[in-house]
Amino acid sequence: MKLAVRHYFPNPLRCFNCQRFGHSKASCRGTLTCARCAEAGHDSSGCIAQEKCTNCKGSHTSFSRSCPSWIFEKEVISEKVTKRVTYAEAKRNVKARSPTPGIGYATAVKKNVKSNSTQIVSVEI
Ligand SMILES: [Zn+2]
Ligand SMILES: [Zn+2]
Ligand SMILES: [Zn+2]
Repeated sequence: MKLAVRHYFPNPLRCFNCQRFGHSKASCRGTLTCARCAEAGHDSSGCIAQEKCTNCKGSHTSFSRSCPSWIFEKEVISEKVTKRVTYAEAKRNVKARSPTPGIGYATAVKKNVKSNSTQIVSVEI
Protein backbone atom coordinates (compact mmCIF):
# COMPACT_ATOMS: atom_id res chain seq x y z
CA MET A 1 0.00 0.00 0.00
CA LYS A 2 1.35 3.35 -1.06
CA LEU A 3 0.93 6.32 1.16
CA ALA A 4 0.35 9.63 -0.52
CA VAL A 5 3.16 11.92 0.46
CA ARG A 6 2.23 14.60 -1.98
CA HIS A 7 0.34 17.66 -0.98
CA TYR A 8 -3.37 17.55 -1.30
CA PHE A 9 -4.71 20.32 -3.48
CA PRO A 10 -8.38 20.90 -3.01
CA ASN A 11 -10.31 22.15 -5.99
CA PRO A 12 -11.27 25.81 -5.94
CA LEU A 13 -14.40 26.42 -3.98
CA ARG A 14 -17.08 27.72 -6.27
CA CYS A 15 -20.27 29.19 -4.94
CA PHE A 16 -23.38 27.46 -6.30
CA ASN A 17 -25.37 30.62 -5.84
CA CYS A 18 -23.35 33.41 -7.46
CA GLN A 19 -20.70 31.21 -9.21
CA ARG A 20 -17.77 33.16 -7.79
CA PHE A 21 -14.76 31.46 -6.29
CA GLY A 22 -13.59 31.43 -2.70
CA HIS A 23 -16.78 31.02 -0.71
CA SER A 24 -19.65 28.60 -0.45
CA LYS A 25 -23.34 29.08 -1.04
CA ALA A 26 -23.92 29.15 2.72
CA SER A 27 -21.88 32.32 3.14
CA CYS A 28 -22.87 33.90 -0.14
CA ARG A 29 -23.96 37.50 -0.22
CA GLY A 30 -24.19 37.65 -3.98
CA THR A 31 -27.19 37.17 -6.22
CA LEU A 32 -28.34 33.90 -7.76
CA THR A 33 -26.47 33.60 -11.03
CA CYS A 34 -26.86 30.95 -13.70
CA ALA A 35 -23.86 28.64 -13.98
CA ARG A 36 -24.55 28.20 -17.67
CA CYS A 37 -25.36 31.61 -19.12
CA ALA A 38 -24.14 33.96 -16.34
CA GLU A 39 -27.48 35.74 -16.16
CA ALA A 40 -28.73 36.67 -12.70
CA GLY A 41 -32.07 35.51 -11.42
CA HIS A 42 -32.24 31.82 -12.35
CA ASP A 43 -30.21 28.68 -11.83
CA SER A 44 -28.71 26.52 -14.56
CA SER A 45 -31.15 23.62 -14.32
CA GLY A 46 -33.20 23.78 -17.48
CA CYS A 47 -31.30 26.73 -18.87
CA ILE A 48 -30.67 26.41 -22.61
CA ALA A 49 -29.15 29.82 -23.19
CA GLN A 50 -25.71 30.23 -24.75
CA GLU A 51 -22.90 29.28 -22.40
CA LYS A 52 -21.17 32.18 -20.72
CA CYS A 53 -18.79 32.15 -17.79
CA THR A 54 -19.54 34.35 -14.80
CA ASN A 55 -15.90 34.62 -13.85
CA CYS A 56 -14.02 35.23 -17.10
CA LYS A 57 -16.92 36.05 -19.48
CA GLY A 58 -15.70 33.30 -21.82
CA SER A 59 -18.05 31.12 -23.88
CA HIS A 60 -18.15 28.17 -21.53
CA THR A 61 -20.13 27.39 -18.39
CA SER A 62 -19.00 28.71 -15.01
CA PHE A 63 -18.06 25.18 -13.95
CA SER A 64 -15.89 24.52 -17.02
CA ARG A 65 -12.49 23.04 -16.24
CA SER A 66 -10.94 24.96 -19.12
CA CYS A 67 -11.94 28.28 -17.62
CA PRO A 68 -8.85 30.50 -17.20
CA SER A 69 -10.29 31.87 -13.96
CA TRP A 70 -10.70 28.35 -12.61
CA ILE A 71 -7.16 27.40 -13.67
CA PHE A 72 -5.85 30.56 -12.03
CA GLU A 73 -7.76 29.80 -8.85
CA LYS A 74 -6.39 26.26 -8.84
CA GLU A 75 -2.88 27.63 -9.27
CA VAL A 76 -3.38 29.95 -6.30
CA ILE A 77 -4.46 27.03 -4.13
CA SER A 78 -1.44 24.89 -5.04
CA GLU A 79 0.81 27.90 -4.36
CA LYS A 80 -0.89 28.37 -1.01
CA VAL A 81 -0.42 24.71 -0.07
CA THR A 82 3.17 24.29 -1.26
CA LYS A 83 4.52 27.62 -0.01
CA ARG A 84 2.39 27.71 3.14
CA VAL A 85 1.31 31.26 2.55
CA THR A 86 -2.01 32.99 2.95
CA TYR A 87 -4.55 32.97 0.16
CA ALA A 88 -3.95 36.65 -0.54
CA GLU A 89 -0.21 36.13 -0.71
CA ALA A 90 -0.53 33.11 -2.98
CA LYS A 91 -2.80 35.07 -5.28
CA ARG A 92 -0.27 37.86 -5.51
CA ASN A 93 2.54 35.41 -6.33
CA VAL A 94 0.59 33.66 -9.07
CA LYS A 95 -0.52 36.95 -10.56
CA ALA A 96 3.05 38.20 -10.59
CA ARG A 97 4.32 35.31 -12.68
CA SER A 98 1.34 34.76 -14.94
CA PRO A 99 -0.71 37.72 -16.01
CA THR A 100 -4.40 36.90 -16.18
CA PRO A 101 -5.33 35.87 -19.72
CA GLY A 102 -7.46 38.44 -21.46
CA ILE A 103 -6.01 41.33 -19.55
CA GLY A 104 -2.51 40.81 -20.88
CA TYR A 105 0.11 43.34 -21.72
CA ALA A 106 -0.32 46.53 -23.64
CA THR A 107 0.45 45.07 -27.04
CA ALA A 108 1.34 48.14 -28.99
CA VAL A 109 3.89 50.61 -27.81
CA LYS A 110 2.39 53.28 -29.97
CA LYS A 111 -1.28 53.74 -30.60
CA ASN A 112 -2.86 56.14 -32.94
CA VAL A 113 -5.69 57.98 -31.34
CA LYS A 114 -8.05 59.99 -33.45
CA SER A 115 -9.17 63.23 -31.93
CA ASN A 116 -12.50 64.69 -32.90
CA SER A 117 -10.85 66.72 -35.62
CA THR A 118 -9.14 64.97 -38.55
CA GLN A 119 -5.80 65.32 -36.85
CA ILE A 120 -4.20 62.07 -35.67
CA VAL A 121 -2.39 62.18 -32.37
CA SER A 122 0.28 59.66 -31.61
CA VAL A 123 0.24 58.58 -27.98
CA GLU A 124 3.07 56.88 -26.15
CA ILE A 125 1.86 54.32 -23.66
ZN1 LIG B 1 -21.68 33.32 -3.79
ZN1 LIG C 1 -29.10 30.55 -17.60
ZN1 LIG D 1 -14.46 31.11 -17.48
